[in-house]
Amino acid sequence: MTDVILVVNSGSSSLKFALFPVETEASDPLVKGKVTGIGRQPVLTVSINDEAISVTEPLNNIPADATHEWLITQLLERLASRYVTYNPVAAGHRIVHGGREYTGPTIVNEAVRQELERLVPLAPLHQPHNLAAIDAIAKVAPDLLQIACFDTSFHRTQPRLAQLFALPRELSEEGVIRYGFHGLSYEYIANVLPDHLGKRADGRVVVAHLGNGASMCAMKERRSIATSTGFTALHGLMMGRRCGSLDAGVVLHLMENRGMSITQVKNMLYRESGLLGVSGISNNMQVLQESADPRAQEAINLYCYRAACELGSLVTSVEGLDAIVFTAGIGENSAEVRRRICERLAWLGVELDQTANDADEKVISAVNSKVDVLVVPTNEEAVIAAATRALIARPPVEKRAS
Ligand code: ADP
Repeated sequence: MTDVILVVNSGSSSLKFALFPVETEASDPLVKGKVTGIGRQPVLTVSINDEAISVTEPLNNIPADATHEWLITQLLERLASRYVTYNPVAAGHRIVHGGREYTGPTIVNEAVRQELERLVPLAPLHQPHNLAAIDAIAKVAPDLLQIACFDTSFHRTQPRLAQLFALPRELSEEGVIRYGFHGLSYEYIANVLPDHLGKRADGRVVVAHLGNGASMCAMKERRSIATSTGFTALHGLMMGRRCGSLDAGVVLHLMENRGMSITQVKNMLYRESGLLGVSGISNNMQVLQESADPRAQEAINLYCYRAACELGSLVTSVEGLDAIVFTAGIGENSAEVRRRICERLAWLGVELDQTANDADEKVISAVNSKVDVLVVPTNEEAVIAAATRALIARPPVEKRAS
C-alpha cells in the first residue's frame, strides 16, 4: 500500500485528479485522471504511470446528471477498491479564490471552510465547484487532511498600486481590487525558471499562461509584480469564451439599451465571447487554426494583438524585459500564436528562432534576441502536491475539516 496525496482540481465541467507519492518530491503523478463533460455526457479517463488507459467500466456507471459530490465519492471508493494499492493521506485542492487573506496553502478546518464560502460571490463560476470537492471528501473521509491551494495567493506580493482600481476608496477597502489568477501555474514556472535561465530567472520576466482561460504575469525576482487578470478571471486577455478587458460602458449599454438581464450579460461575457464570439465557430484555438474561414483568422489576429498589447503594459510594470515564457495549451503547442505575438514585440528586441519555435523547443528565441523566449510546460498539480507534502510534514494543531 503506497501512501499518496490526492490532488483535486474541481472545475465547472471537469474534475481532474492525480495521485502523488508522499515520500518523494516527484513532479509526475503515479495516477492521473479526469472526468470531463460533467452535466452533459461525463467521460472518465485515467492514466496510470504514463500508460494511457481509458477506463471504460466506470463510464457506464456515470449518470448524465452526476454531481461533483457524487463523482468525488465514487473516486474515493475506487481508490479504496479498484486502486487498492493507493492510500490517500491528504487531499490538496486547487481553489480559485483566497481573497486578500490567504497568501499561501492552508489547512481546511471549519473556520477556513466558512471563510472560503464567503468568497463565492468573487468567483461564482468556480469557487462552488472547488468547495463541493472539499465537502464531498469531508463527508466520505472525515479524517483526511485537506489543504487549499489558491490561484490568487501568488499575486499577493504585488505592490498596492498594481492591485488598485480607480474606484471610490471604500470599494477597495471592501475588497474590490485586482486579485489575479492562475497563480499555481505561475508558481510552478517561477520555481523551475532557474533551471532554464540561471541568474536571469530573477530578472524581468513575463509569463504567458495561454489555455482556455488565459492571463499573463510580470515577475521580478520570481515574484508577481502585476498580472492581466483582475477582480475576476474575466479581465485581461481575450480567452476561449471570455472577452477579457472591456470598456465597462459596454456592460451599461447592454443593460440600458438592449434590456439584457444580469444573467444574459454574464453569459455573453463569460461563455459567448472571446475566440468563440469573434469567430462564431469555436473557442478552440486548434480548430480555428485549421479553419480557412476569415472569421477564424480574424479571431486569432485579435487574440494575438490583445496578447501583445497586454504584454507591453506588463513590461512597463517591471520596467523592462529579460524573458518571455509561454505555457498552457496554446502557449505550449501553438507555434503560430507564439510567432504572431512575438512579431509584434520586435521593438522590444524580441526575435524568434523560427525553426526552434516550429519544433516547440524549450528555447525559441534567436541567438541575437535581446529577450529570451521559452516554452515551459506548466504543472499546477505538482505545486499542489508539494504544498500538501510540506503541510503533512508539519502537522497542525488545528482541527481538520469535518
Ligand atoms: P485549460 O485552461 O482548460 O486547462 P488548456 O491549457 O488545455 O486549457 O488549453 C486548451 C487550449 O489549447 C485550446 O484552445 C486548444 O485548442 C489549445 N491547443 C492545444 N493543443 C494545440 C495545438 N497543437 N495547436 C494549437 N492550439 C492547441
